[in-house]
Amino acid sequence: MGRLNGKVFVLSAAGQGIGRAVALMAAREGAKVIATDINGETLKELNGVEGIETRVLDVANKEAVEQFAKSIPHIDILFNCAGYVHDGTLLDCDEKTWDFSFNVNVKSLYYMCSQFVPKFIEQVTGGSVVNMASVVSSIKAKQSRCVYAATKAAVIGLTKSMALDFVGHKIRFNSVCPGAVDTPSLRGRAAARGDPEKTLEEFKSRQRLGRLADADEIAYLVIYLASDESSFVTGQEFIIDGGSSM
Ligand code: NAD
Repeated sequence: MGRLNGKVFVLSAAGQGIGRAVALMAAREGAKVIATDINGETLKELNGVEGIETRVLDVANKEAVEQFAKSIPHIDILFNCAGYVHDGTLLDCDEKTWDFSFNVNVKSLYYMCSQFVPKFIEQVTGGSVVNMASVVSSIKAKQSRCVYAATKAAVIGLTKSMALDFVGHKIRFNSVCPGAVDTPSLRGRAAARGDPEKTLEEFKSRQRLGRLADADEIAYLVIYLASDESSFVTGQEFIIDGGSSM
């Protein structure tokens, strides 16, 4: 028997990286996974996987989120994974970039949770919401991650606030705070700096364990927080960073 048998598991950013690893692991654990992403091409690679249904969704689009939520009659687990990393200091971040970062990383949670929390409440059975933050947030700084860190600190604050407000409805909210994880976007950021191998070595050296995380290592934590194994856990931020914040 899987750890998520029969649970309806909705997630964003399932097209690649951590989201994809979580979608596949949740399906293996017996969940009925509704895997969404803004990118229909990468999402297609999940088509045909047993237990996974795919839907194109831009979580920063309010109307799209509303339409999507209407089509989901029951939900047990919501994993808000979508995020955008801006590489730069405050002085590199124009207003458009600031707003885009907050829209994708924070406002999307407001849209998704505003739609799904009332469903959890109506269902009475409660549920688990896992939000993707980062160790680069209120936990620690990293050079050239100004607006990104601000958005992920907001995710941690929003998660704690919702956890307290809805604790009486048996809805648990937790956030996950990874260090550097080997995903397509991380490799893309390394490539953009001109010397990808050197940049990847720099990323690795910041993790005290001396390597990047594999997406599955983050997925194990998300599955734990999604499952009833964590039934006494709410309002927390979980650092999973290879010791980079020690
Ligand atoms: P990624 O950056 O490789 O992929 C991001 C996915 O999100 C893509 O499939 C993309 O299409 C999707 N996406 C982007 N905007 C979207 C939108 N508006 N609506 C729906 N989907 C959208 O993935 P990743 O590196 O696994 O990162 C996933 C999450 O984990 C992000 O929130 C990121 O900030 C966070 N995170 C990543 C790392 C890391 O080192 N990779 C570390 C800490 C936190």
